[in-house]
Amino acid sequence: MTVTHGPLAQEQDQHFLSLAADLSRQGMENGSGGPFGCVIVMDGKVVGRGWNQVTSTNDPTAHAEVVAIRDACRTLGRFDLRGATLYASCEPCPMCLASSLWARVDRIVFANTRDEAASIGFDDALLYEQVALPAEARIIPCEHRPSQAALAVFEAWKMKADRIPY
Ligand SMILES: [Zn+2]
Repeated sequence: MTVTHGPLAQEQDQHFLSLAADLSRQGMENGSGGPFGCVIVMDGKVVGRGWNQVTSTNDPTAHAEVVAIRDACRTLGRFDLRGATLYASCEPCPMCLASSLWARVDRIVFANTRDEAASIGFDDALLYEQVALPAEARIIPCEHRPSQAALAVFEAWKMKADRIPY
């Protein structure tokens, strides 16, 4: 059982945050990418690790949290991380927050804040603003073009007997 209250839980949180910070430092020093690390913990055990790999893998989505979620899901053999806590060396950006919501982690604990990230050149305030705007008001034009072909696939999904909901 995961302890989520009291001094023991706080000690546990600090321990796992320090592991996330270690990964952030290693990744930075190895030239993997930005200074961000993440561990995912289930039942007191680390089941996923990640560090930012954007610049070394030419993958703009390779944020520490996304890498750690993929690692945890591979390790556990499932796409659902209910029961897990995500420890991030920095407050998750909107993509990583959304990824955590898709993964259905129980809890997120972070160390550095988004303001502290902004102060070293990683400002995601624009992303938070963009998500909240209506599609047509975003800086990337998002245009709705209804398509029979696209809609037909949705109908087929609804009827698909062996679909796996998530
Ligand atoms: Zn992110």
